[in-house]
Amino acid sequence: MPAEPEAAHVPTHRPAATGANLLPGASFDPWWWQAAPLEAPDTAPLPRHCDVAIIGAGYTGLSAALTLARAGRSVLVLEADRAGSGASTRNGGMIGSGHRLGFAVLAEQFGKDRAVAILREGQASLDFTVSLIESERIDCQFTRSGRFRAAWRERDYESMGREVDILRRETGLEADMVPRAEQHREVCTDVYRGGTVYHRHGALHPALFHRGLLARVRGAGAQVADHSAVSAIGREKNGSYALVTARGRVAAGTVVVATNGYTGPESPALRRRLVPLSSYLIATEPLPAETVAGLIPKGRMIVETRSRHCYYRPSPDGRHILFGGRAALSAISPEQAAARLRRLMVQVFPSMAETRFTHSWNGRIAFPRDHMPHIGVLDGIYFALGYSGSGVAMAPYLGHKLALKVLGDADGRTAFDDVPFPAIPFHRGRPWFLPALDLVYRIRDRLEGSS
Ligand SMILES: Cc1cc2nc3c(=O)[nH]c(=O)nc-3n(C[C@H](O)[C@H](O)[C@H](O)COP(=O)(O)OP(=O)(O)OC[C@H]3O[C@@H](n4cnc5c(N)ncnc54)[C@H](O)[C@@H]3O)c2cc1C
Repeated sequence: MPAEPEAAHVPTHRPAATGANLLPGASFDPWWWQAAPLEAPDTAPLPRHCDVAIIGAGYTGLSAALTLARAGRSVLVLEADRAGSGASTRNGGMIGSGHRLGFAVLAEQFGKDRAVAILREGQASLDFTVSLIESERIDCQFTRSGRFRAAWRERDYESMGREVDILRRETGLEADMVPRAEQHREVCTDVYRGGTVYHRHGALHPALFHRGLLARVRGAGAQVADHSAVSAIGREKNGSYALVTARGRVAAGTVVVATNGYTGPESPALRRRLVPLSSYLIATEPLPAETVAGLIPKGRMIVETRSRHCYYRPSPDGRHILFGGRAALSAISPEQAAARLRRLMVQVFPSMAETRFTHSWNGRIAFPRDHMPHIGVLDGIYFALGYSGSGVAMAPYLGHKLALKVLGDADGRTAFDDVPFPAIPFHRGRPWFLPALDLVYRIRDRLEGSS
């Protein structure tokens, strides 16, 4: 796992945080790893040559590997840590339509037709990943739970209403507005001003999904090599690539980068195009099922419109609430993150003031400047990344599309092709500006009344 710009999951400083209400012995590993721990590392010798080397064994890399291996390519997936140690087993397991951008923003940038195509592609990513789960028979507790997007302000509710009207008409989106007076049907709190229910969005167990995908990839004949961090990618005179890894050199005809929020100095051009951020989650101790159902009656996935962007859900067994958010932009300890998230959770559910927590963990997501997913080829290297915190559907989808591009298959085309992907000004790889951005967000949070 690359060590820059901050240790990925282990915080750099750990002052004792008050107010976290963590149980003694609380774990800083993802709650999901209880049912699906990371597998024992595969440290079999690396081949000297392969057709395609894929860097990163999360959803993107594994999905690309599956398509390529089944097309007969020799595939080596190189993972710095252990397969799944990145965001793909750490996330909230909310599966939706792939990206966060609204019609108005997209139409202004790309025009109406392209905006509609991009939004349709988001829905296609959801369809693809659900059908991947079903056709591969991956038991990952997928349910079509629906998602409730809660409006923090009155004007958020109004703009969501306009957006839903357009998307119903243009893309056939299945969504309904829920006014504030009826929101207790979805979530038992008064802090929101109503919201939107997205009926086709769902829930899954992210680590079981990853585990199933990994098994299918190995079953298709690809090698997934753990503890094989790639530190450099060079070009040989014969046109092939030479990868320097922690376990030796490998020659590859094609290189695919699938490192998203963990992209490091081995991919300097991509790194300058992404801002890596941490997202944090906490899990409650076991609660009576009636308590959880009383707070989230239909078992929906809940996300918010406020800048602090909290998201939460019942666990698949309905006995815990998993509550996440952008607790900070710069590194904080799991205890500090738990304290901040708990404060936000109690703001939403005052009845949870005495609830204790068993897990606090985080993972990295990657934001391009335009918050759009990006797929393509840069300096001869294939990449798909930049999911901006919404990759459960999009990462497997774009991994598959990227594999089709490698195979020269016209079905690899996506509405995200040719979207400009400029470097972020003054960004050389280390996101030096995050503390300043953190301050801006804290001020914004205060103005929104959410800190
Ligand atoms: C806390 C959290 C909550 C989230 N919740 C949701 C959600 O509810 N819904 C949703 O849609 N999305 C969510 N996301 C986002 C989603 O998890 C990601 O978009 C998705 O997992 C990205 O998959 P990936 O395969 O591209 O990257 P990752 O799963 O992050 O995998 C990248 C891999 O690359 C490896 N790597 C990096 N550098 C190297 C190197 N040099 N050599 C070899 N390997 C390397 C890393 O070790 C890592 O394993 C969340 C993310 C986080 C962190």
